[in-house]
Amino acid sequence: MEGLARSPAETTLKQHIYWEKHYYNQQRQVMADVKRVYTFGNKEAEGNGKMRELLGGKGANLAEMNLIGIPVPPGFTITTEVCSEYYAQGREKVVGLLRPEVEKAMKNIEKLTGMKFGDKEMPLLVSVRSGARASMPGMMDTILNLGMNDQAVEAVAKRTGNPRFAWDSYRRFVQMYGDVVLGMKPASKEEHDPFEELIDAQKEKRGVKNDTDLTTDDLKELVHNFKAAVKKQTGEDFPANPWDQLWGAICAVFGSWMNERAILYRKLNNIPAEWGTAVSVQAMVFGNMGDNSATGVAFSRDAATGENLFNGEYLINAQGEDVVAGIRTPQQITIEGSRRWAKAQNVSEAERRSKYPSLEEVMPAVYKELNEIQHHLEQYFKDMQDIEFTIQDGKLWMLQCRNGKRTGAAMVKIAMDMLREGLIDEKTAVLRCEPAKLDELLHPVFDKTAMKNAKVIVKGLPASPGAATGPVVFFAEDAEKMLKEKNQRAILVRIETSPEDLKGMLDAVGILTARGGMTSHAAVVARGMGKCCVSGAGELQIDYKARTIRVNGYEIKEGDWISLNGSTGEVYLGQVATQAADLSGDFGQLMELARKYSVLKVRANADTPKDAAQAFAFGAEGIGLCRTEHMFFEGDRIKAVREMILADDEAGRRVALAKLLPMQRGDFEGLFKAMQGHPVTVRLLDPPLHEFVPHFEKEQRELAKDMNVPYEKIAAKVELLAEVNPMLGHRGCRLGNTYPEITEMQTRAIIEAAMNVKKTGIPVHVEIMVPLVGNHKELRYQKNIIDQTAEKVFAERNDRLEYMVGTMIEVPRAAVTAHQIAEVAEFFSFGTNDLTQMTLGFSRDDIAKFLPIYLEKGILKNDPFQILDRNGVGQLIREAVFKGRGTRENLKCGICGEHGGEPSSVEFCHFAGLNYVSCSPFRVPIARLAAAHAALKEA
Ligand code: PEP
Ligand code: MG
Repeated sequence: MEGLARSPAETTLKQHIYWEKHYYNQQRQVMADVKRVYTFGNKEAEGNGKMRELLGGKGANLAEMNLIGIPVPPGFTITTEVCSEYYAQGREKVVGLLRPEVEKAMKNIEKLTGMKFGDKEMPLLVSVRSGARASMPGMMDTILNLGMNDQAVEAVAKRTGNPRFAWDSYRRFVQMYGDVVLGMKPASKEEHDPFEELIDAQKEKRGVKNDTDLTTDDLKELVHNFKAAVKKQTGEDFPANPWDQLWGAICAVFGSWMNERAILYRKLNNIPAEWGTAVSVQAMVFGNMGDNSATGVAFSRDAATGENLFNGEYLINAQGEDVVAGIRTPQQITIEGSRRWAKAQNVSEAERRSKYPSLEEVMPAVYKELNEIQHHLEQYFKDMQDIEFTIQDGKLWMLQCRNGKRTGAAMVKIAMDMLREGLIDEKTAVLRCEPAKLDELLHPVFDKTAMKNAKVIVKGLPASPGAATGPVVFFAEDAEKMLKEKNQRAILVRIETSPEDLKGMLDAVGILTARGGMTSHAAVVARGMGKCCVSGAGELQIDYKARTIRVNGYEIKEGDWISLNGSTGEVYLGQVATQAADLSGDFGQLMELARKYSVLKVRANADTPKDAAQAFAFGAEGIGLCRTEHMFFEGDRIKAVREMILADDEAGRRVALAKLLPMQRGDFEGLFKAMQGHPVTVRLLDPPLHEFVPHFEKEQRELAKDMNVPYEKIAAKVELLAEVNPMLGHRGCRLGNTYPEITEMQTRAIIEAAMNVKKTGIPVHVEIMVPLVGNHKELRYQKNIIDQTAEKVFAERNDRLEYMVGTMIEVPRAAVTAHQIAEVAEFFSFGTNDLTQMTLGFSRDDIAKFLPIYLEKGILKNDPFQILDRNGVGQLIREAVFKGRGTRENLKCGICGEHGGEPSSVEFCHFAGLNYVSCSPFRVPIARLAAAHAALKEA
């Protein structure tokens, strides 16, 4: 009791679970008088389209379609709350609670159809379907033709005069019910479905090929054999009583909420388990009554391209599962669609018309009604609709409608088209577009047909999106060589990458590593370049000597082709064709709207004028992070850098730094020019110096020769620089505070570049950023050097320039002492890569080793280097913003860690009161849209 008396925040996890369980059960008990069943039919409904939470998407829309006069078979929906009750209180209790309402609702269907559930003369048959609040296509179970038994089948045969149809429906019911409710699954992955085996045996016995060739007698025999199989496997007779069937089916649908598929889908789509599924029970309509009947699925617009073209597929004389099963080739609904299909399949117009005619041609009147309904539904719901329908003996019935799933390209086109059509307003258009899905539009993608035959050999982390295909090389210089000599871009495969690989990465078409997480070097750099990368594919056994990869039974040699999907982390054997991304005018328009409605500004992390120009083209409003060390690797610069590192004293370092000065100045000029007066934040040198020197004897000897110094001297210096824990070692502002001449050179390069560009008439906005500060004195020391150097340059040039000095907040101590740091810093930029690393104590380069297991066990919900840890790192950010602005009211705050381009983290940044987010150029559009979403959500 003591635990319960405390607030949840004070309770231990165990107590919290106990408390939740009790609270949960109390809630369920309060539900004793609640309405659990909502009826619909004949243009009336107890529910409506707004009740998705309670009735699920399907139930809510079935109700709404009735209310707007669409023909829907009558039925009722059992609420999602009952699903929670089912798990809290068990089957018996829930059936007891539901019985009176379900019996009453069934009477309503009976009244509207003139049939009777369980009747011998006019048996009512129903479908039982799942439907959660969020659409989970195909994840849960459905049962059709429920109510069938030995009497009902005869009655249906007599009433319809179509015994084959009656027995086909019975056969289907026993099969589906056996599968879904009675668990008649194949014994192993290798074995066939037991019912399908019986069908095959029957066809063989009759010497026919298709299911449709089976006679009524065959179907009778199959029903008999199916039931015998059920008895054999379960030890029970197949239930003949329709009410027993119904309760079995309803509970099986609730049960399917917790099947593995559904759990995985929820996990992937962040759907909480507490939501539960609703169950809709509906009078059956039959698409398998003969050639005047059909069933189909359609979209009001093209879900792949977004084109405003009604499209879909149907099958004559079939039930829903036939379309999905793919046994028969479905036909197109419209003539236009049918012609396009025929062209793609190389089918002549004559053959198309005779063998695969469209619904528009076969049943023109029904088509006309269907077309009107889809238009009506789209206008009504103001979004692209995914609909299911059945035609029973020439009469059209709608079984479902929902907002259709679509590709990124279709998402943008449909939103912008609907805006132009006046169907939705600007804010809705922005909110319709999911930020993360924009990614598909920005990078090359695999050709969809080529993907179908691609063989996955291993899966890593989807570190940088896009599609890449090319020959394997293992060394950066080989990637460079391959491009130079063969004009071929390679896939660079490394155990892990280091800054030395940068040029090779640039020349490669994609990067694959065995180690490293989402913020590992390879991942960060590749994203910055907009280059496809799969990292942390731990199963790869890379042998640099033999130049081979062994993985899951495959051996891949240097020069063999592989393909990477940077959006899924999949690696394929061989060459898979790609196609370039298409950035249409709609995309630009959407981005303008995003800017109009967002509060957060979006900058880019860019280190070169080329990246800066790309970022600017994507709409970046400045550079939030220029990692100056990346400039150190280009061309001959690395020589000067190494000379500086190997120098014996300050004088020697200054000589080498003097060589670097003009090169850095040139780079900064390029950046300032590219950003045309938008802020450019240049970060002083950050990584440990050890990263700039070669680690192997061969390269060290070459360097010694090159620099004309003894090899031993180089080897000794490299040894001296080695650190046990370099991420926590001699790096960040610790470099500038121990070697002030580095800060002096970099400051001079920045200020001189800015003054040069300003002179040409282009405005400049300079922000100098000090990395890895944990103590305000570290920052003050650096700021003094920066200010003194700037003053020197001003005096030399007899001119001045505004500039700001700020700091990264990436050490937890900096966050909690932000009030002191803000006395010196004129801006904060949250380096959430390091801040996450140091707050959680997870090495950003080694997380791939344990992350998959932590995710599987539910210890972590996400990779904290991808999605900001709101409760830990996020709280530090909020505290730092609060304390920093306590000292300096208008303190500008931004984020430049990788989270700055991840939509949910961008949302957090908006609500934490930051001024901007900064991310790699290719994520700028995503961040812009996410920023607009956050602002619109707040409004
Ligand atoms: C960070 O730590 O978040 C950051 C942006 O710096 P880097 O990734 O270069 O350490
Ligand atoms: Mg950092």
